[in-house]
Order: sequence, then structure tokens, then C-alpha cells
Amino acid sequence: MGPLLIWALRMVEDFAEDILAAAAERHRMSAIAETNAATPAGLAKLRAFLNRIVTEQQPFPSIWNGEHRAATTYIAARTGASRQQVGGLLGREGWAAYIRRRPGPCPLDITITGRIDNRPWRQAIDFGEAATLLRHLATACFVVVAYLTGMRPGEVLGLRSGCCPEPDNGPHLIYGNVYKTALDEHGNHLSHGTPREAPWVAIAPVTRAIRVLERIVPDGALLFDSTTHNATIGGRGRQGSLGLKTMRGRIEDFVAFASHTATVLDRPGEIIPADPHGAVGTARFRRTLAWHIARRPGGLVALAIQYGHLRTAISGGYASRGRDGIDDLLDVETARATIETLTTLHEDLTSGVGISGPAARRAVHAATRAATFTGQIITAKQARDLLANHHLTVYDNPNTLLMCVYKADTALCHHTGHQPSPRLDHCMPACANIARTDNHARGLREAAHQLEQRASHLPTPLAERLRLNATKLHAHAKRHHDQRITTPETTP
Ligand code: SF4
Repeated sequence: MGPLLIWALRMVEDFAEDILAAAAERHRMSAIAETNAATPAGLAKLRAFLNRIVTEQQPFPSIWNGEHRAATTYIAARTGASRQQVGGLLGREGWAAYIRRRPGPCPLDITITGRIDNRPWRQAIDFGEAATLLRHLATACFVVVAYLTGMRPGEVLGLRSGCCPEPDNGPHLIYGNVYKTALDEHGNHLSHGTPREAPWVAIAPVTRAIRVLERIVPDGALLFDSTTHNATIGGRGRQGSLGLKTMRGRIEDFVAFASHTATVLDRPGEIIPADPHGAVGTARFRRTLAWHIARRPGGLVALAIQYGHLRTAISGGYASRGRDGIDDLLDVETARATIETLTTLHEDLTSGVGISGPAARRAVHAATRAATFTGQIITAKQARDLLANHHLTVYDNPNTLLMCVYKADTALCHHTGHQPSPRLDHCMPACANIARTDNHARGLREAAHQLEQRASHLPTPLAERLRLNATKLHAHAKRHHDQRITTPETTP
């Protein structure tokens, strides 16, 4: 799911302008070709175009449709001839063999602006692939919205253009509609639905994905309007939005496209690996989101600073609708992550790993309870009970190389009184809830070493800053070494 999200974000944030420009150019050329009249002037330009190809032995603008065929619409738009003139002349002059022998691209006249590592992500977009790329872009938007809001797939597909207005202040909010229970004052069903009571909070990439979709569909239409999204690939739409089955198929296509692009760009680490759990589907986004938020606060899902607030933002948005939404999933995944942390800590401590920090003794005590929960299948109620037990709430924080043994009344990451969980992305080094093991200390030294290495290649002011950070990390590691304790079972 990580590489899938990376590619989806890349499409939305880096490639969308190119793809939308290509789709618009393709649309413009198709409209021109559609209306070109068969005139002697158009025919003369067509002949000149073909003469140049044969004289210079250029590749022939073609499309692949089981075999290479002339890109009639593209040629008509470029020459001013009618499509009938193009097809007629090519047939009369027997160009089929040349096209098979020297098939060529149909690059659209747009400037590629998307970059990966400062290099264009491709040289051009072809007339024949613009529609497919637009389909992948819409799929990427679905992935971003589903993944980063925690909406149910059906709720994403039910969103409309205009659902996420610019706020006067505060975060962007997404207003969805309910359809099943939408009735007017006379009890008649409203096919456009009625506004859902509680909006979702949208972080920046989600807002961008919605803005992209709003440029694809007409004003006020469903963001995944079936007619529009099928028309882009020459298919026929049905009323309403794309279906879940269609979306599942499109996600699989997108996965294949992303992996192919990673291969072409020589980025083997970004190929989306085959999933041992089968096709990605649409329902897995919410659970995966919960998994990541619980385990990697400010980390992988973060990808950028703004995701640091995701748990608060998303569960806050859901909380007002009762506890049957993603809040339950978050609790369950957070409790599971806590049990994993306790189990690992227990194993480490019993094998002689040392621990330090103001909360070290509380962490040791919590670890002794780990075996109680191992292998337990957690319900939302059990998860909430576990998370409410402040003797057990130990969170690993890989980003800051420490463990948070959470106690609300001593937490420094909250300024607003007692909160049920820590803000690991705002961890403060002086907090009384911190504990570190030998593993964290080793990580600190490695991180310091990496900073020192980077500093040796940088100009002075930047290098000084990195060296200062490295010194702080070394100091944390030394303090751990000086103060570490081991549990009685393993003390010699
Ligand atoms: S400041 Fe850090 S250690 Fe303290 S409660 Fe917050 S996250 Fe935990």
C-alpha cells in the first residue's frame, strides 16, 4: 500500500497538469478532426505531409489496435484534411505496409512539466495514451481520497464536484451526501441525495485530488461520474458514479501502470510488489490507513508534515458520528501496535537489553503484562479498555528513537489538558514519559553518524547545523548508556 500511495500522490501532485493538458489537447484535436471539411486545401496539406514522411523515411503516426494503424484523427487535425480524406488517400496509395514497417508516435503539442528527481517523468504524451493516463489520474485521485480520509469506498464514489469548498479559516472540509435516506418533505426520494450531517476533514493532498477531479467532470456532477469517466476512454457510461467493481479493476490497472513506469524510469524500489493478500480492492484503504496511523505516526503515511495531524483530524471528523467509523479501526490498530510494542519490549528485556529514561521503570512494568494479550483478537471495546489503561500505553516512536510510556498528566506534547493519546509527531525531549532501550540508543548513534557523513559534503553553515544535531543524538545515546538498567531476571 505504501508504494501505491506514493505513485497515487505523484500522479495527483506532480503529473496531473501534464495529463490534464494532454487530455485537453487530445480533445481539441479530435474536435478539429471531427469538423474538418473535405477541401482541396486540406488534401494538398495532407499530400505534403505524406510526401515528407516518405521522402525522409520518417516513422508514421500510428495507433496500436491489435496492429499498427494510421492515427487518422491525429493526422486530420494536424493537416486540416477531413478524416475521410485521410483514410481514402492512405487506402488508395497503399500505406498499410509502410505503417506496419515504420510505426511512429503521435506526440501531443504540450510541454511536460512533471519531474522526478528534477528530470521530466517522460518526454511526451502520445495522442493514443492521453485518455488512458486520464483514467489512471482519476484512479490515483480515488486512492488518495480513500486512503487519506478513511472514507468508505462508496462514500468516495458518492462525492460531487463542489464538495470541498475553500474555507474562510480552518481546515478544508468535505461534504458528502447520503442517498438511501434522502427524501423531500413529501417523502419522495431525492436522487441527488441530501447533505451528510458530519463533514470529513481534508488534508492538502486530498483537496488537490478533489480539485483534479473537478477539472475532469462538469460542475456539480459526481466526481466519479460514470458517463464522463467512461467517455474519456471511448466507452459508454451509465447513470450515477463508477461502480466498486469497475474501481477495483481500475486500481489493478493503475498498479500495473505504476510498476511499468517505475521500471521505465529505472526506479526498481518503487515497483509495487505483488500483494500476498491478493488484489488491492477498495475496502482495504481504511484498515491500512488505520494501521499506518497507529504504527507510523508522522512516518510513512505522513510523507509530508501535514499528515502528522491525521489521527486527530480524521478520527475527530468521525467522532461526531458515533464510534462505528474509522475511529474504531484506529483504536483497534493502535491497541494492536501497543501489544506488539509490549511484546517486543518484553522479549528484549528478558534477553538482557537495557532500558533508560524517566519512564523506564513504568515501561518494564508494562512489558511484564505483554503475555496477557499475545495472540488476542481485539474488538473495538477491548482496544478502548486497553488504551484507557495507562499502565499499558507504551508507544514506540521510530522517528524520534524513543518509547512513549504515555501518562496524560505528564505529557508535554499536549497544551490542551488531558488527552487520551500522545502526539508522537510533537514529542518533546524533556518529557517524563520517555524511555529508551539499547536498540534506540544504537539507532541514535547510527543517525548521528549519518548526519556527520552528510555534513562532510556540505558547506559550513549547513554542515554545522547537522553536526549540532549529531552531537545532540550522541548525548542522548551517552545518557542512555550511563543510566541504563536491566531487568532483575537478566542482571548478572
Ligand atoms: S512528549 Fe513524547 S514522550 Fe511525552 S507524552 Fe508526548 S509523545 Fe509521549
